[in-house]
Amino acid sequence: MAFDESHDLFRATCRRFAEEKIAPFCYEWEEAGEFPRELYRDAARAGILGAGYPEDLGGGGGDPLHALVGIEGLLHGGSSGVVASLCSHGIALPPILKMGSPEQQRRFVPPVLAGEQIAALAITEPGTGSDVASLTTRAVRDGTDYVISGSKLFITSGVRADLVSVLCRTGPDKHGGLTFFVVERGMPGFTVSRALEKTGWWASDTAELSFDEVRVPQANRIGEEGSGFVALMQNFQGERLALAFYGHATAELALQDALAYAKERSAFGRPLTGFQVTRHKLAAMATKVAAARTFNYRLAERVAAGEYLVGEVSMAKNFSAQIANEVCYDAVQIFGGMGFMRETRVERLSRDARLLPIGGGTSEIMNEIIAKSLGL
Ligand SMILES: Cc1cc2nc3c(=O)[nH]c(=O)nc-3n(C[C@H](O)[C@H](O)[C@H](O)COP(=O)(O)OP(=O)(O)OC[C@H]3O[C@@H](n4cnc5c(N)ncnc54)[C@H](O)[C@@H]3O)c2cc1C
Repeated sequence: MAFDESHDLFRATCRRFAEEKIAPFCYEWEEAGEFPRELYRDAARAGILGAGYPEDLGGGGGDPLHALVGIEGLLHGGSSGVVASLCSHGIALPPILKMGSPEQQRRFVPPVLAGEQIAALAITEPGTGSDVASLTTRAVRDGTDYVISGSKLFITSGVRADLVSVLCRTGPDKHGGLTFFVVERGMPGFTVSRALEKTGWWASDTAELSFDEVRVPQANRIGEEGSGFVALMQNFQGERLALAFYGHATAELALQDALAYAKERSAFGRPLTGFQVTRHKLAAMATKVAAARTFNYRLAERVAAGEYLVGEVSMAKNFSAQIANEVCYDAVQIFGGMGFMRETRVERLSRDARLLPIGGGTSEIMNEIIAKSLGL
């Protein structure tokens, strides 16, 4: 599977959508900590939410590469937070698509791809994040139902989600005792405990969720009991590759802004580009962006073709997260005081980039995985 013209077209569609429907309102939405729900429907109508999903479930067909270039296009709206929440179905739906019954897929997937419902993925808990298999939210079988108790933290789109793919403990075995359930808004005992305030990703609603003896029918259990850990590990590959794309795309936007500013801003009687230190800084930034993008593109093609490249995906996530932060730091520096002002895009990009070495598995955990892939 390779990138072709259809991916270029889709990236351009997403960019146009972002420039028209996100960028003009971005500042306001960032301040408000969320964006209008209508944006999900607009994105669905524009064919953005369904890219890469099966047509019989309301998707637009295509392949996983479309969703990745979609991130590059959407980030032109200027807010990673908007993209993260608008596309939270990208991490919430795969367990249902991989392991759900045809009936479950018909029930849960089409309303999300139509932009009518919002989906979130809930793994992390107050007591455990990196060590996912130590999670303690329990689902206890009771007749034909399960009763879920516990809490989940840092859940993207969690404040507004209509359905949440929740990983629960159903058995004592650390890895083999985990199972996915779909918990739906309105189920008694399921509440949003807190909307969280963050360093970046302001327009993305991030929640702590509480499950107080939530009764969930067996029809909402995804896959067999104990199948959750393997499904999660597969899910992480998609999420980490997507975050790698956030990384190089964020860095690219910061580079573009810094280039434009350095040409137009003068000091000591010449443009900033008249100083060799600035030119070399921009050269180093451009090199990092090109290296990350090239690596991510090549890797995405291999992953989309079916290769299971855990070490490389972790490398891509780490490298892109790192260069995004370095390039954004340098871009802010080139902007001087203006780079510290909320009215500039680089200010937001630099805050948003800080999430990249943390979300979806931290840099340290990625390095552990890379080390393992080296036989260490
Ligand atoms: C904005 C945002 C959105 C998020 N969205 C979601 C979401 O939608 N769904 C979801 O389930 N989760 C989500 N998360 C959670 C995210 O995946 C976790 O924060 C992340 O996996 C790290 O877990 P933790 O925060 O518990 O850190 P911890 O696991 O407590 O780690 C703390 C520090 O210890 C280090 N550490 C831990 N173990 C090791 C080790 N073995 N070796 C070396 N160092 C180690 C870590 O690298 C880190 O530096 C989100 C987080 C944020 C900030």
